[in-house]
Amino acid sequence: MSAAAPILQLDGITKKFGGFTALSDVHFTVEEKVIHAVIGPNGAGKTTLFNVISGMFGAEAGSLLFKGENIDRAKPHKRANMGIARTFQNIRLFEDLSVLENVQVSQHGRHFPSIWSAVRHAIFHAPFSRGAQEIEMEDYAMELLEFLGIAHARDTNAADLAFGERRLVEIARALAANPAIMLLDEPAAGMNPSETENLDEILTRLRDEKGITILLVEHDMNLVMGLSDYVTVLNFGEKIAEGAPEAVQSDPDVIAAYLGTDEEI
Ligand code: ADP
Ligand code: MG
Repeated sequence: MSAAAPILQLDGITKKFGGFTALSDVHFTVEEKVIHAVIGPNGAGKTTLFNVISGMFGAEAGSLLFKGENIDRAKPHKRANMGIARTFQNIRLFEDLSVLENVQVSQHGRHFPSIWSAVRHAIFHAPFSRGAQEIEMEDYAMELLEFLGIAHARDTNAADLAFGERRLVEIARALAANPAIMLLDEPAAGMNPSETENLDEILTRLRDEKGITILLVEHDMNLVMGLSDYVTVLNFGEKIAEGAPEAVQSDPDVIAAYLGTDEEI
């Protein structure tokens, strides 16, 4: 039996902002059903990489293969429909909508042309006119909230949630689009230790129980090193190392990249 095809292949990705090169000829492969971390000091290009993979930014050079298919020309919503979901470094929730509605917006995203038509639908669609599909979608949204341990907050407005719960709602919303791969941009940022421990367990269960591949950008090295199957390290837009967590952690180039920063590898 041959090894599973990589879910994502980055082949020479270069991204420039004017004369500044934020990503330079980045190559790496993400295997299916693993937790693959992308680390590097601030400004290394991690968020830019996520923006290129999700299609928010086009790249100047290189190509992206998703399950072996070239997606360079696919728009962000097409990539989302194909199974690439993401969360944002700065949490983006609809503050005046409930937790359940925030998740449902993503489900509707698959059926509506724009996020705003989906929001209007979520707000104005009268309960008595709900069809079987609506009920099924709500059941599924609730299942996700239960999986993440935030079902109790289903009717709470996003604005009223604790910080750690806000992150989980964003993850629930990404999950509602039925992704094969999730790009999580600093999900533990701002979390307290018990919220981080809970996140660690959730990400492990997403991989092991739901078979989802996770591409993880994270600064919390305890979390990264304990959780990840594989680590890629960026510095100034270039890949400087990759491998198992222990190998990367003791790599002289990686140690040098973090020297003089206020971060610890
Ligand atoms: P990281 O997430 O690793 O901290 P980013 O990908 O956010 O780094 O940023 C990498 C570099 O690209 C930084 O120097 C940042 O200032 C620059 N950059 C990111 N986004 C933009 C943008 N939209 N326009 C111009 N420069 C940008
Ligand atoms: Mg970033």
